[in-house]
Amino acid sequence: MGTRGREIVGIDVDKLLVLLNKAYADEWLAYYQYWLGAKLAKGPMKDAVIAELTQHAADELRHADMLTLRIIQLGGTPVLRPEDWPKFSNCGYDAPEDPFVQKLLEQNIKGEQCAIGVYKALVDLTANKDQVTYNIVLQILQDEVEHEEDLQSLQEDLEIVMKHR
Ligand code: FE
Ligand code: FE
Ligand code: MG
Repeated sequence: MGTRGREIVGIDVDKLLVLLNKAYADEWLAYYQYWLGAKLAKGPMKDAVIAELTQHAADELRHADMLTLRIIQLGGTPVLRPEDWPKFSNCGYDAPEDPFVQKLLEQNIKGEQCAIGVYKALVDLTANKDQVTYNIVLQILQDEVEHEEDLQSLQEDLEIVMKHR
């Protein structure tokens, strides 16, 4: 923990650490949901869907990495046990029980929309108060907005393909 680095944070650091850990738990669950969904996916445009889910899985894992480094930098402890991820999570975990591409897209779009809300709140909370965390959560928000659009445009293409079959 950097003492001066912690001092310049203009909000309650302990409260911030709880929020960062909740987002951290979200990222691991999102990672696994995408990663497993990419293995199971079936249906039309499967290859395009698998490529996108795989790329998003890598992004979510990178987000977990960014958050854990900041948590440690602020003197916090990242969630130590995977079994605690669902307890901390804001957005939860939607098991890919139905491997049909449309169902997977639906579940992951729901997750992205939840993530956008989480990071929008963190961006608003840290703006002008904690520039270092702000920069991290803004980068993640940009990715989550891109993720939602990627999945919704796949969903649109899929509807066209199904309609013209
Ligand atoms: Fe993410
Ligand atoms: Fe995402
Ligand atoms: Mg993408």
